[in-house]
Amino acid sequence: MQYWKKLSVAERNARVQQALTENVNFSTDASFGYPASHLDDKVFNEDAPFLKDAPVLQTYAANPNHIGCHTLGTSEAAFKGTQEIEREVLNVVACDIFKAEPNSFDGYIAPGGTEANIQAMWMYRNYFMKHKNAKPSEIAVLSTEDTHYSIAKGCNLLILDWIKVPVHFMERYIDDSELESLIINARAAGKKYFIVVANMGTTMFGSVEVADIYTEILENYGLEYKLHIDAAYGGFVYPFSNPDSHLNFRNPKISSVTIDAHKMLQAPYGTGIFICRKGYIENVLTTEAEYVEGMDLTLCGSRSGANAVAVWMILFTYGPHGWQEKVNILQMRTGWLCQQLDLLGIEYFREPYMNIVTIRQNHIPQWVATAFNLVPQKHDENNQWYKIVVMDHVETEHLSHFIDVLKHGEAPPEDTSKYTEIVHNNSFFMRF
Ligand SMILES: *Cc1c(COP(=O)(O)O)cnc(C)c1O
Repeated sequence: MQYWKKLSVAERNARVQQALTENVNFSTDASFGYPASHLDDKVFNEDAPFLKDAPVLQTYAANPNHIGCHTLGTSEAAFKGTQEIEREVLNVVACDIFKAEPNSFDGYIAPGGTEANIQAMWMYRNYFMKHKNAKPSEIAVLSTEDTHYSIAKGCNLLILDWIKVPVHFMERYIDDSELESLIINARAAGKKYFIVVANMGTTMFGSVEVADIYTEILENYGLEYKLHIDAAYGGFVYPFSNPDSHLNFRNPKISSVTIDAHKMLQAPYGTGIFICRKGYIENVLTTEAEYVEGMDLTLCGSRSGANAVAVWMILFTYGPHGWQEKVNILQMRTGWLCQQLDLLGIEYFREPYMNIVTIRQNHIPQWVATAFNLVPQKHDENNQWYKIVVMDHVETEHLSHFIDVLKHGEAPPEDTSKYTEIVHNNSFFMRF
């Protein structure tokens, strides 16, 4: 770990205070040019006494704008203090977690994983068009049917065809021969350039895809590609649970990654992290953005610097060992759940290094799914799966209630809303 460490409360407070003093202070400095200020002080009083020990809320009230990208060229000088905090976050994620060399990447904290994925697709589409003279119709996006719908959204916006790769029903892996025939057909249909999106943890199954399957076949056919890893879900889990993971920047074939801090890291929404190797992000430069100091290289415009501080606080509160321990606990709970399901002969999918368990729908009565808020794969009668995400608040105690309900298999009460209430009150056993 080069950048990531655990800091005490006092150290964290001091670091954020220092960053805020390096920003323009709308309350005390003369700053006439920005269509921005601190938050409305009739509603958000910056002097409220509880803010003193709450660096994230203080930043929120100060309201720095992190518009643009701060790993390349110059940036808006007014917010240079908290921009540096954003760079510290990106260094931890890119170098310490995803094994990039220092200063070898660009990136930013996007509003979410959706934007980070679209940013990647936009960047590669333009790269193929500018540097390879590609027509948009010659470019295709390749990813599995388990891929997050943000990829479909991005294809729609960027007018790119999406080749949806089927996966094995129970094991969720990519079938090489099926992928090969899809690629042969695409080539015959005039596709020459491929944007591959491989998942580190699909949203429904947590499955981690073998990116080499794509790259080997594409290379065999002499086709050009760029490889993006969607680790929106698994980025703060899998690199910790599987130390032998090759889905990182040590693999020269990987050019970019999406990692959501607002999922497993439990950061506030608005913290999707985008990271790419140097040399690519310039492909989405918007030269018309003249009023922004520095280069406009991001899909969104204005974005809050408080989000960067929130992610920074979480990372530097835990430190690498603290975070590893947290992931280990979630793994233990997930393992416990799987053991219990095995004993009951219930079919499920689980990626060994992830904390999602996706259970065949026919084992779960509808009322149990409703009572425990399980998420179905499809919200209609064709649903085949329900998932359990073993998050911080899903303790073994709760999972054990769920297993007991499955064991007893009692008929649903007339009014299932009562059941939900009972489950949530933790007094579930009174019914049996
Ligand atoms: C959640 C998720 C996304 C989208 O992230 P948002 O932050 O909701 O925009 C993309 N990919 C995967 C795999 C996800 O789980």
